[in-house]
Amino acid sequence: MSPAATVSSPRTLAGALDALVGATEATLILAGGTDLMVEFQTGRTRPGHVVDVWRVDELRGIRAEPAGLRIGALTTCTELRASALAQEHADILVIAADEVGAEQIQARATIGGNLGTASPAADLTPVLFALEAEVRLVSKAGARSLPVTEFLTGYRKTARRPEELIESILVPTRAPGERRGFRKVGTRRAQSISKVVVAVAVTALDGVIRTLRASAGSVAERTILLPSLERELAGKAPDAAALDRAARRAATADCAPIDDVRSTARYRREVLRRILRTLLAELLLDET
Ligand SMILES: Cc1cc2nc3c(=O)[nH]c(=O)nc-3n(C[C@H](O)[C@H](O)[C@H](O)COP(=O)(O)OP(=O)(O)OC[C@H]3O[C@@H](n4cnc5c(N)ncnc54)[C@H](O)[C@@H]3O)c2cc1C
Repeated sequence: MSPAATVSSPRTLAGALDALVGATEATLILAGGTDLMVEFQTGRTRPGHVVDVWRVDELRGIRAEPAGLRIGALTTCTELRASALAQEHADILVIAADEVGAEQIQARATIGGNLGTASPAADLTPVLFALEAEVRLVSKAGARSLPVTEFLTGYRKTARRPEELIESILVPTRAPGERRGFRKVGTRRAQSISKVVVAVAVTALDGVIRTLRASAGSVAERTILLPSLERELAGKAPDAAALDRAARRAATADCAPIDDVRSTARYRREVLRRILRTLLAELLLDET
């Protein structure tokens, strides 16, 4: 951390919001620190002021509300994995949380931090896109909610104003009969950053797709939806060939992967195509 940085460690939400009054781009909110401490250590990020919210218990907890599942921003991957409510309402979020880093990381890595990084490789974010989640932001000036798709605005960029913090995430109540899938491909089976990550939520009646929402990470500068896939399949009763076509189109038209230290753009497109094809066949054709 920069030697000149100051730190506040509020114990209440009101205290955290007070500490954020007058915040600038150099004011950083510290949650589990699994991303931010690396940033500080490498000098990539130099904070002026750090607001450490880890002890603000009002930001914790998972509860059912009439509109859906409310997940406090400080909820960790470990807590998501252990939550029967999360399993019932958002099973793919639990699966994704289980794939974040190792157990030590999961004990500190929060859902708010996963969104806050706005990393294209974040594993929980595609799930939140597929589940049409909303982010609730609070500041001394009030609260606002926005779709998670609008919260992420670019590479490591969000719509959060400096005085705001992520208070919670709402996963709306899911349609009866919705089927969901999640896949992550990294260098190894476990403990690796995603090369491609995909989440899908689909409902079908008599084989006809009623709703479809698919999202992918690590294939563009931020987590994305896959509109070509949705357009290609919505309202159809797809067979294997149609799923092939839709997956191919999405991997061509919807993403903009790059070559980097973890992978090549070509590999990412191919893996995205295959994952989509496999997931959709599992969910819609009962292929395993
Ligand atoms: C070894 C290792 C392995 C990892 N593996 C994975 C992986 O497999 N998958 C994956 O997705 N990630 C992985 N990560 C990244 C990281 O663990 C996750 O992104 C994690 O969810 C971040 O949460 P955090 O609470 O630690 O965030 P922090 O590091 O505390 O913060 C991250 C960012 O979010 C902001 N932020 C945090 N909380 C709030 C809030 N309430 N309101 C506003 N802004 C906020 C911070 O200001 C900062 O910009 C890994 C990291 C490490 C070090």
